[in-house]
Amino acid sequence: MLSQKRGRTARWIRILGHGIGWGLPGSTNSYANSYTIRATENANRFPAIQYAAAPEPGAVGTQASRLLMCFVARGVLSRRDACVPNDPVATALGSDTMEGDQYSLAKQELRRQVVIIGSGPAGLTAAIYTGRANLGPLLIDAPSDAEKQTTPGGQLMITTEVENYPGFSQGVQGPDLMVEFRKQAERFGTEFLEKWITHVDLSERPFTLFTDDSIIKAETLIIASGASAKWLGVPGEAKTPKGFGGNGVSACATCDGPLPAFRNKRLVVVGGGDTAMEEATFLTRYAARVYVVHRRDKLRASKIMQEKAFRNEKIEFIWDAEVAGILGTPEHGVTGVRIRNTVDEEHFTLDCEGVFIAIGHKPNTDLFKGQIEMDAVGYIKTSHRTTATNIPGVFACGDVQDSVYRQAVTAAGTGCMSALDAERFLDHLPVAMPTGEEVTIEGEHISPDHLKIIRANGEVVMNEPEVAFAEEK
Ligand SMILES: Cc1cc2nc3c(=O)[nH]c(=O)nc-3n(C[C@H](O)[C@H](O)[C@H](O)COP(=O)(O)OP(=O)(O)OC[C@H]3O[C@@H](n4cnc5c(N)ncnc54)[C@H](O)[C@@H]3O)c2cc1C
Repeated sequence: MLSQKRGRTARWIRILGHGIGWGLPGSTNSYANSYTIRATENANRFPAIQYAAAPEPGAVGTQASRLLMCFVARGVLSRRDACVPNDPVATALGSDTMEGDQYSLAKQELRRQVVIIGSGPAGLTAAIYTGRANLGPLLIDAPSDAEKQTTPGGQLMITTEVENYPGFSQGVQGPDLMVEFRKQAERFGTEFLEKWITHVDLSERPFTLFTDDSIIKAETLIIASGASAKWLGVPGEAKTPKGFGGNGVSACATCDGPLPAFRNKRLVVVGGGDTAMEEATFLTRYAARVYVVHRRDKLRASKIMQEKAFRNEKIEFIWDAEVAGILGTPEHGVTGVRIRNTVDEEHFTLDCEGVFIAIGHKPNTDLFKGQIEMDAVGYIKTSHRTTATNIPGVFACGDVQDSVYRQAVTAAGTGCMSALDAERFLDHLPVAMPTGEEVTIEGEHISPDHLKIIRANGEVVMNEPEVAFAEEK
C-alpha cells in the first residue's frame, strides 16, 4: 500500500505491490522495466510523485498513475497530493519538469502503434491479429453501464444461444463466446483499458483519443464501436429478468429466428421499413404466423420488399398499431403483446410467443461526427476492398461500418481485415481508400488506375519501373 511522510528530509511516497518502489525528494529512480518515477517536493508543500512517460507499451509507469488515481478515489490521498492535473493537455506526460507550484502528476498518456475501440467480435479479432503481429494493441472498451446498455464484449453479451458462429456445432452462449475471444486476444499480448472514449482528434497522426483520465496517441486506429439496436422502450421489453429480452424478445431475426423457441410459433415483427420486411419474410421459414405491426397505414419499405411481404401468405399486417407493452411470464416467456390503435386509441391483446423489434439500428459513431466520412444514418464509410476510411491510418470494422449483414462472423471477418490493413499501413505499404486511391503512411497517394503517385509534397511521378521488365532481362 501507500505510505506517506511529511518532514524536512522525508517527503516521499511509497507504493508497494507493483514493484514501483519509492523515491526521496528530488530523486529519480529508474526501474528495470523501463519506467521512471520521480519523487519531488516544493518546500513546505506536499510531496508529489511525478511520473515520466514510460516510453513504450506495457510500461509500468502507467500502473503507477492508475494506482495513485485509485488512492485519490478512496480518499487515501488528496487530488493535490497526488498532483492530479487540472489541465490534462498542459500536463500531459512526456515532460518531467515542474514549473513553479505546478505539481504535475501528469494525466496518463499512452502511445501505441495500434489502438482499437470496442471489444465485440470485430475489435477482439483485430486485437488477436495485431497482437500476433507484435504490434502490442491497446483495446479500449466502455465499462458495463446498464443505462447506456454497454458491456465489455459487445452485443453478444446480451444474448443467450448463438447457433450460427462457425466452430461450435452445438451452439455457444454469447457471453461464453466473447470470453474465449478475449482470452485469445490476451494470449497475444493485447492490453485492455475499460474506459469511455469521450472525444477524439483525428486531424493528424498520431491520432489523439481522450478518456476521463488518460490521453492516448495512436499511430493507427481501428474503430470497432459497433451499433445498437433501437428499442421501443415499452414494458416487458427489457432484458430478462426485468422483461422478456432474451426470453422471447429479440432485435435480430437472422440471429434468433431459427432457435427452437420460435419454431412453429406466432411471432410479431414491429416496424415498417426494409429491415422489418426482410425479418418478417425470413421468419416465415420457421414461424406458424408472422404479424407485422406498423404504426401507419402504409410501409416505408421499398416497393420490392413490400411486394414480397404482401405475397407471403404467412404474413399478416396490423396497420395503425403500436406495441404498448409485451406480456408474458418468467416460465413461458412471451405470451402476447398489448396493441394500441393509433387512430381510435383502442387497446387489444394479440397472442404470440415471440416479438422481433425491427425499427432500425444506430451505429455508435457520435464520437467521430464531423471528423470522418459517414453515410446518412451514421455508418462509417469504408473502402470496398479494405476497411480503410477516408482518413489514412484509421480503419473501421464490424457493425459500425456495416448496415447490411450485422453478424458476429462478418464483424470478426472485417476485424481481421482491419488488422491486416493496419499492419500493411505500418509496414509503409499502400492501402486502398474509399475513393479507390491508395495511400501510404508517408502520405503518398497512388491513383485508382495505379498510373500515378502523388507524393506528400505534391510532386507527381509515374508509377512504373524505370527500366522496363523486358529491357532489364
Ligand atoms: C440480441 C442480439 C442477438 C444477436 N445474436 C447473434 C447471433 O446469434 N449470431 C450472430 O452472428 N450475430 C448476432 N447478433 C449480432 C452481433 O452481436 C453483432 O453483429 C456483433 O456483435 C457486432 O460486433 P462488433 O464488434 O462490430 O460490435 P459490438 O458487438 O456492438 O461491440 C462494440 C463495442 O464497442 C463499445 N463502444 C462503443 N462506443 C464506445 C466508446 N465511445 N468508447 C468505448 N467503447 C465503446 C461498445 O460498448 C461495445 O462493447 C446479435 C445481436 C443482438 C443485439
